[in-house]
Amino acid sequence: MQEELLNSVIKITKTRDVNSLEYSLVTTLQEFIQCQEIAVYKDLQDFGRRVIECSLVLHHENAGQYQWHDTHIVESPESELLSCLQSACIITVQNNNGIEHRWLPISIFDKPVVAIKVVSNHLSSSQQVLLNAFCRIYENYLTILHENERDKLTGLLNRQTFERKFKRLLEKQVRNQKAHNRDNNNRKRQPESYSWLAMVDIDHFKQVNDNYGHVCGDEVLLILAQQMRGFFRASDLMFRFGGEEFVLIFEPCKQEDINEKMQAFMDHVRNTHFPFVKTLTVSVGMARISPYDFPISVLENADKALYYAKNNGRDQLHFFDDLVQSGAISPDNANQDEGDIDLF
Ligand code: GH3
Ligand code: MG
Ligand code: MG
Repeated sequence: MQEELLNSVIKITKTRDVNSLEYSLVTTLQEFIQCQEIAVYKDLQDFGRRVIECSLVLHHENAGQYQWHDTHIVESPESELLSCLQSACIITVQNNNGIEHRWLPISIFDKPVVAIKVVSNHLSSSQQVLLNAFCRIYENYLTILHENERDKLTGLLNRQTFERKFKRLLEKQVRNQKAHNRDNNNRKRQPESYSWLAMVDIDHFKQVNDNYGHVCGDEVLLILAQQMRGFFRASDLMFRFGGEEFVLIFEPCKQEDINEKMQAFMDHVRNTHFPFVKTLTVSVGMARISPYDFPISVLENADKALYYAKNNGRDQLHFFDDLVQSGAISPDNANQDEGDIDLF
C-alpha cells in the first residue's frame, strides 16, 4: 500500500501541464477509492462573472465500465458546488440510498478555483484522509504549474504554453466536429465553423515608455490585460506573447461575429482611460484556425495581417484570408521581414 501510494504521488508530480495533472489526480483517486463519479470543476470567474467549466469527468457506467467525459461549460451548477467554491469548505451530502456526494475545494493563493466532486458509497475515515491528502498534493502542484503558465506582470498565459494550449484546442475542435457530423449524418451538412487567432499589438508603445517611463508602460500593459480579461469570455485563451503583443484564441464562430467582437474591443481600448496616455490604440491581425493547422503557420498568417495593419495606418484590423483574396498580400511570401515568429 505504501509503495503504491508513493508511486501515485510520483505519477501526479511528474506531469507538466494542468490538464494532465487533473487526469492523474482522477485516475489516482479512482485507484484508491472506488467511486461512481469523480469530476473536476473549474471556476473561470473573471471580473464578477461566474463561469463554471467541468473539465473532466470519470463516470462509472456499469459492471466495471468507466466513461470519460470532456470539457463543457456548466449552465446551471449545483448549489453545493457553488457553496464549496464560495466557502472553500468541503461539502458532503448523503442521499436516501446512502450514496455520498462530496465537493472538495482547491485553492490557488487562498482563492478557491477548482472543486473536485466525488460520488461514492460511504467513505471510511482512512479513505477520507487519503482523499484529502491527494487533493492537497494536487493543490500544491497546481499552484506551481499555474505560476509557470502565467506571465508575471499581466497574469495572462505566457508564450511558452501557447503550442500546448493550441494543440489541445484543435483536438477538441476535431472531436466536436466529428460528433457534430455524426449528429447531422442524416440532416443537411452544416458549414464548418473555425476557431480564430488574433494577434494584438499596441500602437507606438515605445513612445509611452520614452515619454512617461517604463513604470507607466508596465501599468498600461497591466490595464490593457485587465480590460481583455473583462471583455472576452473566460473560456477564450489569452496570451502575453511579447512585450506589448498579445495573442487571443477564440473558439469556433462565424467570421462576422468575431470581426464584430474584435472591432468592439478596439473601440473599448480607444475609450479606456490609461494613466498619462491620452489615447491608446491597437492593431490586430486575424487568422483562421483549421483543425489540422500547425500553430506556427497560423501565427505567421496573423502576423502578416498585423504587419499589413501597421503599414497601413495602424488602429485597424485585418483578416489574413481577406488580404490574400484581395491580392493585398501574397500567402506564401515567406521572405518578408515580418516573418520573424518563433514559438519560444
Ligand atoms: P508599433 O506601432 O509599430 O507596434 O510601434 P511600437 O513602438 O509599439 O513597437 P516597437 O516594437 O518599436 O516597440 C515596442 C516597445 O515595447 C519597446 C519596448 O521598450 C517596449 N516593451 C517591451 N516589453 C515591455 C515591458 O515589459 N514593459 C514596458 N514598459 N515596455 C516594454
Ligand atoms: Mg507595438
Ligand atoms: Mg510589437
